[in-house]
This record gives sequence, structure tokens and C-alpha cells, in this order.
Amino acid sequence: MKVTILGNNSALPAFGRNPTSQIVSVYGEYLLMDCGEATQIQMQRHGIRWRKLEHIFISHMHGDHYFGLVGLINSMSLLGRVAPLHVYGPAPLQGIIQTTLDLADTELSYPFFFYPLPEGSDVLVETDTFKVTCFPTEHRIPCHGFLVESKTRGRKILPAQCRDKEIPRYFYDKLKKGEDYVRKDGKVVKNEEVTTEGPRPKKYAFCADTLSTDSFIEYIRGADTIYHESTYLHAEVEKATVRYHSTSVQAAELAKKAGVTQLLLGHYSSKYRDVVPFRQEARAIFPNTQTTVEGMTYDV
Ligand SMILES: [Zn+2]
Ligand SMILES: [Zn+2]
Repeated sequence: MKVTILGNNSALPAFGRNPTSQIVSVYGEYLLMDCGEATQIQMQRHGIRWRKLEHIFISHMHGDHYFGLVGLINSMSLLGRVAPLHVYGPAPLQGIIQTTLDLADTELSYPFFFYPLPEGSDVLVETDTFKVTCFPTEHRIPCHGFLVESKTRGRKILPAQCRDKEIPRYFYDKLKKGEDYVRKDGKVVKNEEVTTEGPRPKKYAFCADTLSTDSFIEYIRGADTIYHESTYLHAEVEKATVRYHSTSVQAAELAKKAGVTQLLLGHYSSKYRDVVPFRQEARAIFPNTQTTVEGMTYDV
């Protein structure tokens, strides 16, 4: 699992940084977390192809998290998308999308599905390869973070060894499940001779906008990577609290308490040109912290 940052600034675009948007890639399938204003432009710039995108998650109704959504939905239609698109977001968002499309007399070229977020936590989508759960954060208006969990795809096939042992292709699915192959002459090819252990399931949490809180810690505990907002440096902790945002130090404290492996910071206030001090403050508490850079991809 990987995450590519398309936007990591807060309310305004500033210093070349854009409002929130990121692509989580699970076995090559894309999940979009929030859709700030520049999202489709950033997707083009960084080679993110919308054909691999079927699920979009919107955390809350502050514009820096969804103003790019209708544009993206419309562009995919202009470009002849046929695959269904599933959008999960606050209930009022559905009306905004529909009204905007209706006023332009736009009929989408593809099936579009909208799922309103619940008040609390729930599983939003589950496939053979991943599961996404939403959880409430503490913000000025209702807001949700999203937990993405990848699933194991079974054991990894070693193609050269399989060819060498003359194992037919139709048996590969059974090899992935750990079965041995019995040849016609009765000889057994042990599974571990032709496979290795598959990739470990991963856990990534996008914590959206939030006051410093451990109210959702049960969802992020033990995650491989979390993205947590750090709108302010810790000198501005009072301002952060009043505005229902967090500081770098608070994000690092939560990462430590939740026992995660890696912390990604973002949602920087437009008042900061240089984001290196965010990393310095956070690393003093939680060393495995990255200050995200747009266009960069991080292993989960
Ligand atoms: Zn925001
Ligand atoms: Zn917000």
C-alpha cells in the first residue's frame, strides 16, 4: 500500500501547496481521500490515472476538502468514463453535486453512486483486497477520518520455479492458498518450493481535520502509517485548539500513544512557508515522522 500526496495545505493554496487531497494505492487500485480544489490538475501533473479510481472519500464540508470534486466528476464524464464511481461523504454533498450537474444539464457518462457518511463509525466498502472504515474526528463541523486496511492476497507465486516444476497455470490460485501440487505420476511439489510468503496486510489511517484528541485512537492503534493534520507549530497551540486543529507536537504525541509505525504530517497553515520545523518538532517526540511533500509517494 502506498499514499501519494496531491494537496497538503490547509484552507488556502500557498507557497505552491494545494488544499487536501491524496491517493491511497492498494494493489494498484486507487482510493482518493478528500478532493481539494486542485485535485484533477495535481492528478495530471503526477501521473495519477483516473481509470484506476473507483472510490472517493470526503471527510467534511469545509471547501478545502471537496471544492475539486464536481470538477473531477465532470471531467471524467467528458473523457468518456464508463466504470462506476462511488463517492462517500457528508449527506449534504450529494445535493451540491446533483444541483451543479443539473444546472449545467449534464448527464454523466458513467454510473454514479453516493453514500452518506453515518454519524459514528462504520465500514464503508469492503472488497477482496481492501476495507475502508470511517471514524468521527473532533472538528468545528462533523468530520470523519478513514481507515484503509489491505487484505492478504495469499502466497506469492515464484514463476520460474513453477515453470521448472511444470505446474499448470490453472493451479496458481490454489498455490496462492497454500496447496501442494500433486503431479500425474503421484509426486508432490511442496507449496513452499514454488511460492514465498505474500505481502503482509497493511493499515493506513487518514485522520482528516481534528482537534488534538485520542477519541478515535482505537481505529488507528498499531497502524503502519497515519496521516495527521498539523495545521500549526506548537507555539500556536491555543489558536489550534480554538479552531479545532492540531499542532505537530500533538500529532506526534498521538502517533506515539497509538503505537503506529510512521507519521505523515500535512494540512499546513498558509502562514508557514517552510515546513521543516514541523518535522523537527514532531521528531523530538516521534522520530519516524515525515513532513509530506506534494507529488511524493510514501510506502505505508
Ligand atoms: Zn481543512
Ligand atoms: Zn476543516
